Amino acid sequence: MKALFGYLPGEDLSYEAALAQVPDKYRPKVIATIEESRARQAPFHLECPVTGFHDRRERWVRVLGGFSIPEGSIHHLSGVIMDITEQKQNELRKNRFIGMVSHELKTPLTALKAYVQMLNVWAKKQKDNFTIGALSKVEKQIKKMAAMITGFLNLSGVESGMIHLDKQDFFLDELIREVIEETAFILAGGQISLVEAGPLRVNADREKIEQVIINLLNNAVKYSAKIAPVEVYYTQAGDMVQVSIKDSGIGISQEDIARLFEPHYRVESKETQNIKGFGIGLYLCAEIIKRHQGKIWAESEPGKGSTFSFTLPLG
Ligand code: ADP
Repeated sequence: MKALFGYLPGEDLSYEAALAQVPDKYRPKVIATIEESRARQAPFHLECPVTGFHDRRERWVRVLGGFSIPEGSIHHLSGVIMDITEQKQNELRKNRFIGMVSHELKTPLTALKAYVQMLNVWAKKQKDNFTIGALSKVEKQIKKMAAMITGFLNLSGVESGMIHLDKQDFFLDELIREVIEETAFILAGGQISLVEAGPLRVNADREKIEQVIINLLNNAVKYSAKIAPVEVYYTQAGDMVQVSIKDSGIGISQEDIARLFEPHYRVESKETQNIKGFGIGLYLCAEIIKRHQGKIWAESEPGKGSTFSFTLPLG
């Protein structure tokens, strides 16, 4: 541990000194994780950078630890600590690469979309129904691809800690209506309805919240029978707004609910084995909502459908 923290073998390393070497941005989370582990007498796992004491080198470390039962006022912490710098650097490179590729893919897709729209206008003038039908399918696929690319872009941003919020005041009910219309168009079939509750203004990153609603709606349709109804409702609760998306699909067990929002987590069951996905949608939603100081959670029972809800601060 001394070597990883940049000390010489004979030097002392106190708990406070070790914490001081964690950069400001990460320190509160490290302290909270360790304090929670002590309070709950449960093991902890954390990853963070540390700046070497003498060499000033930045290393990433992974710590697995726990507290033994306290003897009076003395708490004993033990665990293992390992150097994961190289792994982290590879992850950063991977994220930069995904970010760059996704960004590059976006430009031609935007051009493609514009040409399809132009062709559509032309086909309508010619009353060419075959072309109109084919173009509508092309447009759906372009929209699907655009949504995927946005997902990858967000993922690479989240994982390298660079998710940037561009907050503005907007009407959440308007956004929900727009997303429902788009989703119904892309997925063709799903009956998605909105329980109207008047205009509600929020202060948030419109594009990212759009992404969250798209993800939740897509899942509601994806993990349900083809024509099962999906209901969206929103309410004001104190100085927050709560949005819920209720499906009558396959549902989720209690053990899985606890892990849904982890990166790459997917439920493995008979019902889900043929449904494709990367398991990053809910992780992204959770990161976006957390950054807005909101909460996101799921309520469900296997076979009885699920309700996913999130909160956002009012505008
Ligand atoms: P993906 O859908 O790509 O697997 P997500 O992060 O969006 O990834 O979802 C994680 C997992 O949560 C899914 O694999 C699925 O098992 C479960 N899940 C998500 N939404 C629902 C839902 N509405 N009903 C049932 N299961 C769901």
